[in-house]
Amino acid sequence: MNERKIILTGDRPTGKLHIGHYFGSLQNRVKLQDEYNQYILIADVQALTDNFNNPQKVRNNIKELAIDYLACGIDPNKSTIYLQSMIPEVAELTMFFSNLVTVARLQRNPTVKTEIAQKKDLFGNNGESITYGFLGYPVSQAADIAIFNADIVPVGDDQLPMIEQTREIVRKFNSIYGKVFTEPEAVVGKFPRVKGLDGNAKMGKSLGNAIYLSDSEEEIQRKVMGALTDTTKIKKDDKANPEVCMVGYYHKLFSSKEKEEVFNECKAGSRGCVACKKQLAKNIIEYLAPLREKRRYYEQHLNLVDEILIEGTKKARKRAMEVMKQVKSAMKIDYFK
Ligand code: ATP
Ligand code: MG
Repeated sequence: MNERKIILTGDRPTGKLHIGHYFGSLQNRVKLQDEYNQYILIADVQALTDNFNNPQKVRNNIKELAIDYLACGIDPNKSTIYLQSMIPEVAELTMFFSNLVTVARLQRNPTVKTEIAQKKDLFGNNGESITYGFLGYPVSQAADIAIFNADIVPVGDDQLPMIEQTREIVRKFNSIYGKVFTEPEAVVGKFPRVKGLDGNAKMGKSLGNAIYLSDSEEEIQRKVMGALTDTTKIKKDDKANPEVCMVGYYHKLFSSKEKEEVFNECKAGSRGCVACKKQLAKNIIEYLAPLREKRRYYEQHLNLVDEILIEGTKKARKRAMEVMKQVKSAMKIDYFK
């Protein structure tokens, strides 16, 4: 029998999901769940690496994240949604993997470097207060991926260094202890990095520049009205460049019908920013309406969400325990069998 290939994806419960996640990964996950054995990880342990002083935030976002998945069309009969902290084998494997990576290698990780620079409150102006846990989160992520022997990891492009790190660790493990793990492939979707409302290169939950899938119509309107536009356009009929404007940028995602007209009018100076933003807000609101409706259903059936998480975690743990047996035998720490 041809076994289905395994996918591992996931998110940190640091906030609700935004349109960057939708175009960057969720859309893809919904498609892939029909062909692959898909595990979706709610990475609460990883979220705690930079939210260790705010555990309530992480806890509150677990269900929000699960509801976002379900609202987008993740089907718990096809995908296994599970909680990272409830699989202690992952923490165990992280420990074993940590011997296989140098501190210098972790310090060179470009995504971790960017994130440390963004978290000055926590890690100091020059990263001098970086914690062992945050610096090491790529190792824990390697364990997340390896423990399911994932073949494929669909990610945004900020995650590519993590997958490369995982491949290195897995190769090293296999060469020392014998082959246990698969080297995973990263798959970057059509929209590897959706920009933020403020023009930041990345829309991020922790960056305060996101349109969330769960935002109300009023919130969407307010956020779009405040989005960064071409700063050279002062008056309503000034000619402007939609390519340097966040509203123009999101029109590309949400306004397949009107995009050309909007862009031409912007360039010709015949459409003001307010009209342009109103059109965009309307399109986003319409686009996300079915998701908001599904979300409301799950918000009213939270027991169902609990059940899905409990069942998913049970199934994932069973699989993780099987692989851990192989790991311990390979590492010669399978005492008293
Ligand atoms: P945080 O700011 O707390 O790190 P985040 O918005 O970066 O949150 P994560 O949970 O870290 O979200 O990322 C989950 C997945 O979503 C990753 O694969 C990541 O690459 C992808 N992703 C996150 N933001 C974007 C974005 N703006 N565009 C495309 N993909 C994204
Ligand atoms: Mg992130």
